[in-house]
Amino acid sequence: MKPKILLIYTGGTIGMIKNPITKALQAFDFEKLLLHIPELHQLECDITSISYEHPIDSSNMNVSHWKELGDIIHARYDDYNGFVILHGSDTMAYTGSALSFMFEHLTKPIIFTGSQLPIGDLRTDAKENLITAIQLAAQHEAGVPIIKEVCIYFEYQLYRANRTVKVNADHFEAFASPNYPPLAVSGVHLNIDKSLLWQHGYDEFAAAQEEQNKRPHHSAERQNAQVANVNDTVDQWRMNYRPELVKEVVVLKLFPGITREIVAAICSIGGLRGIVLETFGSGNAPSEPWFIDIMQETLGRGVYIVNVTQCRGGAVDMGKYETSVKLKEIGMVSGKDITTEAALTKMMYLLKYTNTLSDFKTYFEDSLRGELTV
Ligand code: ASP
Repeated sequence: MKPKILLIYTGGTIGMIKNPITKALQAFDFEKLLLHIPELHQLECDITSISYEHPIDSSNMNVSHWKELGDIIHARYDDYNGFVILHGSDTMAYTGSALSFMFEHLTKPIIFTGSQLPIGDLRTDAKENLITAIQLAAQHEAGVPIIKEVCIYFEYQLYRANRTVKVNADHFEAFASPNYPPLAVSGVHLNIDKSLLWQHGYDEFAAAQEEQNKRPHHSAERQNAQVANVNDTVDQWRMNYRPELVKEVVVLKLFPGITREIVAAICSIGGLRGIVLETFGSGNAPSEPWFIDIMQETLGRGVYIVNVTQCRGGAVDMGKYETSVKLKEIGMVSGKDITTEAALTKMMYLLKYTNTLSDFKTYFEDSLRGELTV
């Protein structure tokens, strides 16, 4: 049986053409997009494609679009072996991160790709990106998809989506994954490094499922002892779809000279539930009393604050420098080596699905989908 892949076109440069009057790139008909890649018919998989009725530039993506995309995948989850999403690169890291949290216990790949040049352009990077993304989504062993997580494929590299950042507006190599190596590299061969893939709990699940299948061969006594355990493991591993996110969050990037008025104004936005605080280096911030006071008062009002570093790579380590000791003392959550994109979407997710700061902190500082290093 050939793997069945669902290709979803949301918009982005890959399917854009130049408006003859304004000269600006704008989305066009997806059917025409497929006409440009007859190679797709040669792939060893069955591809079904669907398109947003009104494809969008990814700068227009919002939380409702993420849910719409999640709903499309969720409704068809059992019908396909893998999903490939065509998406603008500008906010791909955010959408990829958001979907990684929405889908727990994925057993299939969701691979985002796009391009820097439209598919109709002579020098386009779209064809390789699209063809290889589909090939990666179709990789399986004994009928089981090899990749079971949300990824981004761009310019010969497959990344864990919630580890990525867009780093270049011009180069074909538009993405980086500063704190986690690429999961696969495409050269003459497609090299997937299986040791890097997100398999969290999957092996126990697969073993339990196998045990369930073997059950009739076991003695009644042995069965009784094992059945409960095995059933529990299998049940716990069902794919969970949790698409509701809390939007009342903000990213506050510190800079030398930031004033008390600015920080106070942002922290007192009505209805605010969470702040991703982009600090310096390994999680450092001004130690001036006014800054610590505002942070403490904000936390006291029940607004959660996560400390992430503005550095491209490396991790927050509160307490390493004097300038972060107080942040730890007042109860700020450590984002460790998470990206801002993943921190923001993880915060939106956990604000919805946890009830106390202590639960939020426990889950945030743990790796839920491989988004940070514990
Ligand atoms: N502005 C485009 C978008 O993000 C860029 C791209 O497709 O790469 O939709």
